[in-house]
Amino acid sequence: MTMKVDDPRTYQPPRDLLQDRVILVTGAGAGIGRAAAKSFAEHGATVILLGRTVRKLESIYDEILEAGGPQPGIVPMDLAKALAPEYLELKDSLDKEYGRLDGLLHNASILGERSPIEQQDIAVWHDVLHVNLTAPFVLTQVLFPLLRDSGDASIVFTSSGVGRRGRAFWGAYAVSKFGTEGLSQVIADETSEAGIIRSNCINPGKTRTGMRRAAYPAEDPGTLLTPEEIMGPYLYLMGADSRGVTGQSLDCQ
Ligand code: NDP
Repeated sequence: MTMKVDDPRTYQPPRDLLQDRVILVTGAGAGIGRAAAKSFAEHGATVILLGRTVRKLESIYDEILEAGGPQPGIVPMDLAKALAPEYLELKDSLDKEYGRLDGLLHNASILGERSPIEQQDIAVWHDVLHVNLTAPFVLTQVLFPLLRDSGDASIVFTSSGVGRRGRAFWGAYAVSKFGTEGLSQVIADETSEAGIIRSNCINPGKTRTGMRRAAYPAEDPGTLLTPEEIMGPYLYLMGADSRGVTGQSLDCQ
């Protein structure tokens, strides 16, 4: 049964919202991805923790088990470097272990450099576009069969305010987030008829993480919401209450 939700920001999910759902989170080692992985597990999901720093993934793995959550999976993968065999291996191992994928949170991103277009380093531009946009595209494409096998799958992309309106000095990062919004809409349109896969974006808004600190070093972190405080829309989009919601871009703040 689905519940009408007026404002996903204040969504109060039932404790068992994500019971028996298998959800992959990229960039699960820190910041918003870490909070999302833990929150999904608290609500019953088996989370697959994908990230480039194994030590961080292992510590979240331990925290989830200590809190009594379902046993997570760990996927060490650097999205800046991964090639086809790694993606295919991931797909095969998820297929073997779970036989489907119910949720895919594209959260990992890099900031690149804050500078005017005239001075953007071309190699950094490539890296940012690759990690923030091309890798989520490849990951989604490879995992499509498993998402279809779910029968009720949710793909969530992570956007940003600068992915909706360009702003000076946000260069490749802003462009990657515009691309993210576009990719999500294209997938939503391609899957809307079948109704078994939904695709949406979330804009977290300014949130107390390492990336925010790197972008605004002089800012008082105490003035920002923590990742744990913005989980409403994430849980809403991953659970059954958002069935039929697709092609949207939600704000957390
Ligand atoms: P953080 O930098 O704190 O965390 C990003 C995570 O992504 C880290 O776990 C990092 O791994 C991982 N990651 C980065 N590069 C790679 C890679 N090549 N391969 C695998 N994993 C990688 O960022 P936030 O938590 O702040 O951001 C999460 C998402 O929210 C991003 O998409 C960001 O653009 C978006 N966002 C954030 C806002 C904010 O105010 N914080 C505002 C608007 C959007 P590791 O820990 O190993 O470095």
